[in-house]
Amino acid sequence: PMRPSSSLSSHSSYGAQSYQGTIKVSVRPRPLQTTAGNLTGNWNIDRVDNTISNHETGDFQYDNVFEPSANNSEVYADVVQPVVTKCLEGYNGTVFAYGMTGSGKTHSMQGSVDENGLIQLCAAELFRKLKSDFDAYKVGCSYLEIYNEKLIDLLNFDGSPVDELRIRDDPTFGVRVVGLSEHWVASEHELVEVVQKGDSARKTSCTDFNDRSSRSHAVLLMRVEMKQDSSTRHSTLCLCDLAGSEKASSQTERRKEGAYINKSLLALSTVIQKLSQGSFNHIPYRDSKLTRLLQPSLSGESIVSILCTIHLSSSTITETINTLRFAARAKNILMNVRRNEQQEPEKERYELLLKENQRQKQEIE
Ligand code: ADP
Ligand code: MG
Repeated sequence: PMRPSSSLSSHSSYGAQSYQGTIKVSVRPRPLQTTAGNLTGNWNIDRVDNTISNHETGDFQYDNVFEPSANNSEVYADVVQPVVTKCLEGYNGTVFAYGMTGSGKTHSMQGSVDENGLIQLCAAELFRKLKSDFDAYKVGCSYLEIYNEKLIDLLNFDGSPVDELRIRDDPTFGVRVVGLSEHWVASEHELVEVVQKGDSARKTSCTDFNDRSSRSHAVLLMRVEMKQDSSTRHSTLCLCDLAGSEKASSQTERRKEGAYINKSLLALSTVIQKLSQGSFNHIPYRDSKLTRLLQPSLSGESIVSILCTIHLSSSTITETINTLRFAARAKNILMNVRRNEQQEPEKERYELLLKENQRQKQEIE
């Protein structure tokens, strides 16, 4: 099979002002329950060609197909690290975990007691590089949840964590979440701490957390400003743990919340499909909160890397194939991303942005 042409690091050299490539798509199977080893059921995984196949489906090929035994550090190195590197050059970056409930999205993003997740690994590398490579830097952190098509600020510690936010398409600043709180974090430790606080807000605001987390999208935003000599760069890194991609199982579920969840994920799927066919007009970003929020990322303002998680057991084969098809479509999408670097009065933009933030806060109050 042909090798995929996309690799986040190969297309743009340092100093270039734009980056071109395709969306990077990686597939991570979780280990089968019966073993911690490398059993793959009826599936055949080739880590060298990055293919996954079974008798019925034939080969699927991606930028990465991990072994079930891969750990988060290995996944980080291939899925997130190249995005962090570009982020430090002034490109926006988006990583999202897509897959059915129980396939390992949260295990990947947040880790477990035994190992750090992609969020912690990303925070560690981000601050290590910021400290060593820049004269000055700032990192602002926001964390929100989309549940039943409502946006909830997970870091609004002063007010009620269930406040509903609105999305605005601002002519100067693009798509913004009005009134979303932002916390300055000075270290990896502070960043991780803020995220943990957000997660506990998420847990306490609902009665059945597992159920809720499988139906909601968690979106972590890290806004980075960097200064080196006379050059200022800024970028936003977005890490999303999406809702379970499976179809709602019961009628009541579908009527209740499934309808909304499907609305966001269905919209994402439609948007990915249209973009993968090379069409750029009439993309239905406005059909859901998730696609509105991700619109700048998906329409070329951000380098995108998707982690598709799958469960190889035979009982989930339909969902696994659905995820692999979604992943295959996403792989075709071309990105042409601008670099955010200015040689001085960049400050003005931030002063404007701060003022606009304050104005919007007052407007809400
Ligand atoms: P999701 O967030 O996609 O619903 P989780 O990340 O919560 O799924 O994973 C479901 C269960 O499977 C959890 O108990 C998790 O610890 C376990 N798990 C998932 N992926 C892995 C993996 N790669 N290695 C070990 N355990 C995993
Ligand atoms: Mg989860």
